[in-house]
Amino acid sequence: MEKALKACPFCGSKAELKQAHYLESELPYSYVRCVNPECSLHTNSAHFSGGSEDRNSQDAVTAWNQREQIPAMH
Ligand SMILES: [Zn+2]
Repeated sequence: MEKALKACPFCGSKAELKQAHYLESELPYSYVRCVNPECSLHTNSAHFSGGSEDRNSQDAVTAWNQREQIPAMH
């Protein structure tokens, strides 16, 4: 089951879960990013790897949702 993603803590835009593979090793990783291309969280998103795709995705979603506690920098 996929967990719901909270809105971006910085700009309030929607977030999306992405899955990809590292080119060099073909290891799967997941990350959550803000859909707003102007937002710093559009590109500066943490990668989660080392488990199955499902596991990576759950970790990425959990980390994203907890990030809301971090104050936005202006
Ligand atoms: Zn954002």
